[in-house]
Amino acid sequence: MSSNTSHPTLADARIAVLGYGSQGRAHALNLRDSGLDVIVGLRKGGPSWERAKAEGFNVAEPGDAVRGADLVAVLTPDMVQPSLYRESIEPNIKPGAALLFAHGFNVHFGQIAPRADIDVILVAPKGPGALVRREYEIGRGVPCIWAVHQDVSGEAEAKAKAYADGIGGGRALLIKTDFKEETETDLFGEQAVLCGGASALVQAGFETLVEAGYQPEIAYYEVLHELKLIVDLFYEGGIARMLEFVSETAQYGDYVSGPRVVDAATKERMKGVLTDIQDGTFARNWIAEYQAGLPNYKRLKQADLDHPIEQVGAKLRARMPWLQANAPKAAAEPLK
Ligand code: NDP
Ligand code: MG
Ligand code: MG
Repeated sequence: MSSNTSHPTLADARIAVLGYGSQGRAHALNLRDSGLDVIVGLRKGGPSWERAKAEGFNVAEPGDAVRGADLVAVLTPDMVQPSLYRESIEPNIKPGAALLFAHGFNVHFGQIAPRADIDVILVAPKGPGALVRREYEIGRGVPCIWAVHQDVSGEAEAKAKAYADGIGGGRALLIKTDFKEETETDLFGEQAVLCGGASALVQAGFETLVEAGYQPEIAYYEVLHELKLIVDLFYEGGIARMLEFVSETAQYGDYVSGPRVVDAATKERMKGVLTDIQDGTFARNWIAEYQAGLPNYKRLKQADLDHPIEQVGAKLRARMPWLQANAPKAAAEPLK
């Protein structure tokens, strides 16, 4: 597949993509289809190794992939990156090469202190990996934000933009940021609104209807299934477009009841979430949780999976098989 962008800066570069999960797979495939030279770095024997090989990539252990690479994209889970950096990247990355992240967490919170003789850049697609791939395949892209943390080559900005072009972001929109802004806004978005806020809102709405004696199946449609229609309208044209499509009755209810549910006190608590992100409390807690073997993470995840809305939803979705037809596999889809 040919790309509609050119990449003079990376044209002769070797790019090592470490990780072949949500973002890693999408980036590796898009960069290759943009005509760039990609090697995938993975643990031998891990589930991704065979997949990347089967999809035609040159695959090597992380240290071997890093050696000789002009740009190293770190696309493993965030909590794995500090040890991966120490063991495989720091001893092997070429002076003047670029180290690229898709999320600024480890650099911003001091978990990785990159060597002084390399460029350190960020290209963060504002969408899950499966979408980064799907949009690219149909000739579009997912908007990306980019940043430079360290520029030793004098070309760090050009490398970030060329990489963003290579994964398709340049076909959509590129916005300049810095590691602090990307890290803090990304964490806030996923915690307060996208993942945390939205799922808690849906669960509370479901519980309210079921506890009042309504059928769980109908509650599921009202508070979860139909959310897609609303979010699609947000995506296309903002809240204004949603208001154009719903009834006058729904609009009036929106105006008078929305602020009763999400009120000034909710916003105060959102500010608390943001403060915990900004002052490092969230990062400290998450790193400690990971190091302790994820006891709370596992318990809280199980509670979500055991919520009654999941049982009802599974039964209903089994009767709507068309919903799964175009859905990417779960492993390739998570939004992080
Ligand atoms: P994933 O959880 O999907 O990454 C899994 C991949 O990492 C697998 O290929 C896995 O290989 C590999 N991996 C795990 N441990 C190691 C290791 N020690 N050495 C080498 N490879 C390893 O990650 P995401 O794509 O979700 O996230 C990657 C980065 O992108 C993160 O910084 C994240 O914050 C950021 N990001 C993610 C988004 C998303 O949509 N998910 C959105 C924007 C940014 P194996 O199969 O062998 O275990
Ligand atoms: Mg994000
Ligand atoms: Mg994130």
